[in-house]
Amino acid sequence: MKEMQKETSKQTHYGQFGGQYIPETLASELTRVAQAYDKYKADPEFLVEFHDLLDNYANRPSLLYYADKMTQDLGGAKIYLKREDLNHTGAHKINNVIGQALIAKRMGKTCLIAETGAGQHGVATATIAALFGMECEIFMGKEDTERQKLNVYRMQLLGAKVHAVTSGSMVLKDAVNATMQEWASRIDDTFYILGSAVGPYPFPEMVHDFQSVISKESKQQILETEGKLPDAVVACVGGGSNAIGSFADYIDDKEVKLIGCEAAGKGVDTDQTAATIERGSVGIFHGMKSLFLQNDDGQIDQVYSISAGLDYPGVGPEHAQLAELKRAQYVGITDDEAVNAFEYIAKTEGIIAAIESCHALAYVMKLAPTMRKDQIIICTVSGRGDKDVASIAKYRGVDIDE
Ligand SMILES: *Cc1c(COP(=O)(O)O)cnc(C)c1O
Repeated sequence: MKEMQKETSKQTHYGQFGGQYIPETLASELTRVAQAYDKYKADPEFLVEFHDLLDNYANRPSLLYYADKMTQDLGGAKIYLKREDLNHTGAHKINNVIGQALIAKRMGKTCLIAETGAGQHGVATATIAALFGMECEIFMGKEDTERQKLNVYRMQLLGAKVHAVTSGSMVLKDAVNATMQEWASRIDDTFYILGSAVGPYPFPEMVHDFQSVISKESKQQILETEGKLPDAVVACVGGGSNAIGSFADYIDDKEVKLIGCEAAGKGVDTDQTAATIERGSVGIFHGMKSLFLQNDDGQIDQVYSISAGLDYPGVGPEHAQLAELKRAQYVGITDDEAVNAFEYIAKTEGIIAAIESCHALAYVMKLAPTMRKDQIIICTVSGRGDKDVASIAKYRGVDIDE
């Protein structure tokens, strides 16, 4: 696969990372997407429609909630939670889906396709397809369809067709491959809504821009309530979309620490991990150059995390660059630490947060006590945890009837 070098979009590379490593069949379509995005990203009419849907359909702006009890209990920095769990469909994913679906509509597409792991991105895509009256097909590893039956049915209720992908290890990375293949075979009427800050350009740029609403809001909110910027912003990292959205508006504010929390699974030093930045190496996969968990021959490793949303063997190219430049710091959080945080945040703040988000909260539990009381942490709660209740019960050996 050779790299296509068409400079239609500004943000094609992030240092040595990013780019567009794709089969010829998709090259001209990706150029059209990049051109369309370049045209609309600064178009006032497009932006009005995007923000109108964010506000009036997805329930933005999301709260910046002061977690008083958690702050008192941990006895250090003031903790604010950016509540993406309160968005329609229960996570940050809807921000990006609305943006990309609007581009698709303007390009005259009638069908939306998407990959999904746990089902969150598939549900968000099926939701917007229903709202826009578009056809929708979702590709999901067969393993995942069996683990996430409720989300499969949810997508079907929303009118989507769900395909169980049986290639490879039948998980998220195989679903991405299958969606790319499907797209190549029907580019005329179809748009691929990629669910994270990964893939060939212009996807990482689009996802960055659409998710950056998180940090634009949080900055305004913290300046209103505290009159100053936070000392640290913390978010979990799978492919990196909620984290890049949480970081975006602070990247130039060098005094704000940016911390991404990866899933260490059973431990960063075990082979049951998904800590891509800590353990990975440079490679090319899913259309981009980035960091991946892979063997010496460049074969992508099987990854593991209790959290299906963080169970991805790569990371978005902008995070790979932020790590290389040391502008952001990336830390591994184990299953155990995340489950402890899941229970802690439920009991202290009355919030059942997604197990993905609990990787960020677990780090806040370590970080806050090391900071002064006049310092501020903003932690993104990327999604709600209803979907995780049964698996947390199982992790604790509690038998509940589903
Ligand atoms: C999908 C998902 C994630 C991981 O994806 P990113 O692109 O890294 O944000 C994190 N949290 C929730 C709730 C998710 O649904």
